[in-house]
Amino acid sequence: MQIDTILKQYNLRVTSTRKQVLQLFLLKEGKAISHHHLESHMDDSDRVTLYRTLKTFQDHGLIHEVQDGSGKLKYALCHEACNHVEHFDNHAHFYCNSCKETICLDEVEAQMSAPSGYQLSETHILMKGLCNNCVNYT
Ligand SMILES: [Zn+2]
Ligand SMILES: [Zn+2]
Ligand SMILES: [Zn+2]
Repeated sequence: MQIDTILKQYNLRVTSTRKQVLQLFLLKEGKAISHHHLESHMDDSDRVTLYRTLKTFQDHGLIHEVQDGSGKLKYALCHEACNHVEHFDNHAHFYCNSCKETICLDEVEAQMSAPSGYQLSETHILMKGLCNNCVNYT
């Protein structure tokens, strides 16, 4: 699908930064990418604009935050169900110790409930090990 079409679907004005950022996410679909990765792959990287773009994408249900224990915040593309009101990214993430990729495991649902008296806002489940690509090379 065309980058412009996707941005319009999410009610986002088309700008060159937004197009570049979305393109980078599409190239790594199903995987999380860091701020640093985006910055180093953009022609004209301006930290502030990039930061705002990520925030806007997140607010519009286009990407979600991924915490993979690396200390760096990463982001990955959402599924169609996410929108500007609510995110539905309650899946586990898998960090591969070999290729260092962080993968969205859509088929593994992170369903846990907090004990009574607690108010849960987010659940992050992180699995670590070897991904299905790396397992074949060991
Ligand atoms: Zn989402
Ligand atoms: Zn791997
Ligand atoms: Zn994810």
